[in-house]
Amino acid sequence: MTANMTARTVDFKAGERNVFLHLLTACNLSCQHCYINPSQHGTGTLSTTVALEWLRLFARSGQQSNLILLGGEPTLHPDLAQIVRAAKSMDFGVTVDSNGYLFHDFLEQVQPRELDYLSFSLDGPDATVNDPLRGKGVFATCTENIRRAVEQGFRTSLIYTVSSRNIEQLHRMPALLSELGVRRFFIQVIGLRGKSALAVQPEEQWQVEPGHWLEVVPKVAQQAARAGIHVTYPKVFLEKHESFSCAGRVAENYFIFPNGRVYQCPLCEDYPLHQLCIENNRLVKRDGLYENRFFALDIAEGCVMNKLLQPDTIEYIADGKPKHRISCCMLKQEILP
Ligand code: SF4
Ligand code: SF4
Repeated sequence: MTANMTARTVDFKAGERNVFLHLLTACNLSCQHCYINPSQHGTGTLSTTVALEWLRLFARSGQQSNLILLGGEPTLHPDLAQIVRAAKSMDFGVTVDSNGYLFHDFLEQVQPRELDYLSFSLDGPDATVNDPLRGKGVFATCTENIRRAVEQGFRTSLIYTVSSRNIEQLHRMPALLSELGVRRFFIQVIGLRGKSALAVQPEEQWQVEPGHWLEVVPKVAQQAARAGIHVTYPKVFLEKHESFSCAGRVAENYFIFPNGRVYQCPLCEDYPLHQLCIENNRLVKRDGLYENRFFALDIAEGCVMNKLLQPDTIEYIADGKPKHRISCCMLKQEILP
């Protein structure tokens, strides 16, 4: 392993802004672990006019903010290309997160220079692993469209959501990504949100044991970096010497849903805990006991929302102390090729 193959923790940068705009919640797929929760996020689609109004609320002239356009499936929005162009003119760095179906001839509607990244989601290195999770025929369609996008000169990235269903196959992804020409690899951890939060039987449990995660994920990340791919994966467990930091206190992250809810912590998305919302095209702060009140709490387990909402993910040692502190879910490790 060479020096630059060592994973570094990407600290939250002061002033960094990440805006995740869900243009709609509709999707052509029905993934088993889908995190979209229509009872909380609505079933609406933002009109183009409203989407642009909302983007203006979060744009900062002269300061680049990252914009991630997502859904549901964002390419189901007929004016996605127009929204991408408008966002670029507002100084956003723009990524579109697609399930790979690329509706409305998306590759023909935008130029590679107009998009910073086109991101695809795939949860397995072949159809036998991916399709039981994401749907029949999804692997073939998604990989075919990745090839087309790469051929046309788009910068592409891929998100793999690691769960107990596919962790054993993660090591096969770097070879696939190299063959497809994908430049960035985001390894995600399954969140207990949306459908995956509803599993009740032990055989339905999606989460990966801490030891298993630490044994597999960093090694595969290094393998991908050696293949020339820029890899990012969540920190999840803090080492003893590492300090805990909540992104809600130090960074600007906004997760915006078509019903106007604006969350700063993605773990809260299944609950009406959003402190901010958009009303009549204005960003409004709600007074009361919302997510922001929890960001300031310091607990031995690290992330307070994880402790409240997913207590089963924390292991304790004999003296009652947590075995690992859980980092902010937005704290990343990165390995550059
Ligand atoms: S592609 Fe995304 S939005 Fe669609 S079902 Fe799958 S996880 Fe849900
Ligand atoms: S995941 Fe935890 S640490 Fe991160 S913003 Fe939410 S509450 Fe804060």
